[in-house]
Amino acid sequence: MAKYENLIPRFLKYVKVNTRSTPNSTTVPSNERLTKFAEGLVEDLKAIGLDNVHINAQSSYVYATLPANTTKQVKKIGFISHFDTADFNSENITPKFVENYDGQSVIKLDDAGKYTLDPAVFPNLKNYKGDTLITTDGSTLLGADDKSGVAEIMAAAEYLLAHPEIKHGEIEIGLGPDEEIGTGADHFDVKDFGADIAYTVDGGPLGQLEYETFNAADAQVEVTGTNVHPAEAKGVMVNASQVAMDFHAALPEHDRPENTEGREGFFHLYSMTGTVDSAHLSYIIRDHDRQVFEDRKKLFQGVADQLNKQYGSERVQVTIKDQYYNMREVIEKDMTVVDLAKQALEELDIKPLIFPVRGGTDGSKISFMGLPTPNLFAGGENMHGRFEYVSEQTMEKATDVVIKIAQLAEQQA
Ligand SMILES: [Zn+2]
Repeated sequence: MAKYENLIPRFLKYVKVNTRSTPNSTTVPSNERLTKFAEGLVEDLKAIGLDNVHINAQSSYVYATLPANTTKQVKKIGFISHFDTADFNSENITPKFVENYDGQSVIKLDDAGKYTLDPAVFPNLKNYKGDTLITTDGSTLLGADDKSGVAEIMAAAEYLLAHPEIKHGEIEIGLGPDEEIGTGADHFDVKDFGADIAYTVDGGPLGQLEYETFNAADAQVEVTGTNVHPAEAKGVMVNASQVAMDFHAALPEHDRPENTEGREGFFHLYSMTGTVDSAHLSYIIRDHDRQVFEDRKKLFQGVADQLNKQYGSERVQVTIKDQYYNMREVIEKDMTVVDLAKQALEELDIKPLIFPVRGGTDGSKISFMGLPTPNLFAGGENMHGRFEYVSEQTMEKATDVVIKIAQLAEQQA
């Protein structure tokens, strides 16, 4: 019998439900599917025997508490994941299984073999020799991101309840919607959650531990032109599309996603439209270093100022909105939360994989609300599309890590 008998069955039950979140929705959660799914989670968390199970009104997160079974004063630890899935077909998800994978075969997703998992394309497959892999049938995503995290946290809580000999402090569970559309954590209610430190269990492969993310801003550029007949344009026409191109050309050429890696930041032009009359450019600005991030925003505004000066009027209008910040700024004030996770990985013989994330996590926002929240691996690979897969053995190890963190915190209190 598997160590966590409900881990995989619960995961499979959850991935079969369509919980795709709705971009640009104005409601919380972003659609009715997510409300219904949350209500189902409440029933399941109650059935496990957890306390204080409720849907937080502000965020629509499902919260639950596993009471302490020690008299020691232990930091309250939170474990967080999201149950919505990315913007990809999520209708009729049909998980498929590859048992005892040999680490080298090409896996057919659909029967015709139009879509495959090929180690030549996805070299990480080689890490899963001997594992049971759960894949899609090629027509949908899987939703391991992040229902693997949901199932792992629940399995850990269930295990701890069944094994009172493992001492732990109070554990808080938070399962939320709308991570994939970037809004779920905006409404996170730190006070109701009640944890002192927390982890999102939303990372990828075995061993991942992330406590450094980008600083992030969205930047919109609106260009106003003067449209006259091209025959009589000399000295009169201001072509908004041309000004927009000049704007883009004035940004550092190297600092684009396709030219950068590691800790290098960038300006990313993700959309452009334009006529002579008006043009619009949409960017995201990213950098791990807070000061360099601020400098990037200044440079961006400076390009607009320069063009406006050149034209003698406000042709270019820039609107910059910060999205999230590098959680390291918060976490490095007290590294306990990272050290605890590192130690848990080491005690379980899992090699910690620690790299700065070239993106954000829900923890980037939650950390700045006062709750330090690095990100732990949940196991998923190739997230957000039809090539997504997860190993059952990695999911078991992620569950081990959650339990070990709870146990270590108690031992060290
Ligand atoms: Zn995720």
